[in-house]
Amino acid sequence: MSSTTVSVLMPVTEPLDVQSTLDTIRAYLASTGFEFEVFPIEQRGAEGLGLMLRRAVGEATGATLIIVDADLPYRVEAIGDAVALIQSGATDIVFGSTAVPVPGHRLLRSLVGAVPDPAVRLKAFSREAARLVIDETKIDGEGCDLEMAFLADKYGFRIETLHVELLRARRAKRTFLLASLYTALRVRLMNRRMGYRAARRCPVCFSNDIRTLTQISGNLVRICSRCKCRYLNAFAQESDVRPARRVLRAHLPTKELDALAGTDAENARQKTSKRRLATVRRHLTPRARLLEVGVRDGSFGSVAAREFEYVGIDDMPTAVRNARAAGLEVYAGTLSTFVNTGRYFDAVVLCHVFENMPDPHDALARIKDLLRPGGVLFLTTVDTEGLLYVLSEKKRIAQYFRQHMILYSRSALIELLEHSGFEINVIGPDFEYRDRRLVRHWIASQWPVLAPVANALIRFLPDPLLVGSGSIRVIAQRRAGPPIDAHVLRSVEPTHAR
Ligand SMILES: [Zn+2]
Repeated sequence: MSSTTVSVLMPVTEPLDVQSTLDTIRAYLASTGFEFEVFPIEQRGAEGLGLMLRRAVGEATGATLIIVDADLPYRVEAIGDAVALIQSGATDIVFGSTAVPVPGHRLLRSLVGAVPDPAVRLKAFSREAARLVIDETKIDGEGCDLEMAFLADKYGFRIETLHVELLRARRAKRTFLLASLYTALRVRLMNRRMGYRAARRCPVCFSNDIRTLTQISGNLVRICSRCKCRYLNAFAQESDVRPARRVLRAHLPTKELDALAGTDAENARQKTSKRRLATVRRHLTPRARLLEVGVRDGSFGSVAAREFEYVGIDDMPTAVRNARAAGLEVYAGTLSTFVNTGRYFDAVVLCHVFENMPDPHDALARIKDLLRPGGVLFLTTVDTEGLLYVLSEKKRIAQYFRQHMILYSRSALIELLEHSGFEINVIGPDFEYRDRRLVRHWIASQWPVLAPVANALIRFLPDPLLVGSGSIRVIAQRRAGPPIDAHVLRSVEPTHAR
């Protein structure tokens, strides 16, 4: 089987002469150069659509599977378009639709995720998606369409909608909202009763109550209904401590950006670092040993090294070089590769780095090993339960996930830390100093109506300005006892579908 083989499945549920459709599809696919197989699926007995498709998926060998309508009410090229979308890797599943976005009911969408257009059957699947999404369906009749949509969401597959123009008016399928709602509820109930294979669990709390929050370029953002964490469906493998560049993106004119790159922004970062150090200092003795994971521009390090024994790690060679040039003890590497040759650390600091670690349990276990009993973990991270986050999530989610892998809710973070052998000392909002001009531009880009009033007010405020960043800071202490074993929780269900 070549990787470009296409299997065309054509369920025939009505008495129709399908020969001309078959000829058209074969002639078209032969012209595209794909290897292909075309299956008309005959109805056996009282078999419904679901059963016919499951049977056919077992027989099909293609890397891309495509379901077409037996009367081919759209241009045959739609098949090629759908296949191209799958084979280019842009998506895992394609739903054909006469309108984009699919006209549908919000209630239905909230129950099953994407809703397929009932007017056309055209759908394309990558082999992996078909294996799970079609194979796992349980409903026999037409309702399996909705079930597929639900399962695609459950297992975290990307869905794209392909617009198809109908060539002739079709006898409208009588799809009642009520019937669809009934199907959707049936599917949800089946899911509740563990009727489907389990999906990959939440990386934070291991719940399997996961759904897709939104699709972003090349990935999906998943949300855990239990702990309210958001995370990327697929993590890039290369790194576990890539520090975030905490820069407000307000599309500044280049001239102003250049000005900001100078002393003003540096001043704001310095002040933020000093503020953070002041918080950590309360929990430390003089000359304590301190580890920073992700040194970024080295602003925290240069402040901390004056009074503490400072060690930093960062996986970005440029950050390491710059920090060393500034006289700091900084090593290239990640938490998993770092070996502590000195005594235990009294404090570990992670400023907006924890969001970029793919396995928080492993990271915390390693941090615990580096800390002395009673040692302090200082951590700042985005809070998905914070007001600022809730208000801006819809607009800024793609930006958040350009930099981060997992965003935590405050409650999940507390639970996670306590299960990993830490005791929370302080938890509260994190404030950062920002250059006044940046704040002004940010307000202008977010709420243009408020800009004149805000500009007038900001003039009277100090520069740099102390602002809430929608993040929280946590100070936790390493407990002396052993942590609760997370691996036991994980091994409850050793296999998952995806
Ligand atoms: Zn969770």
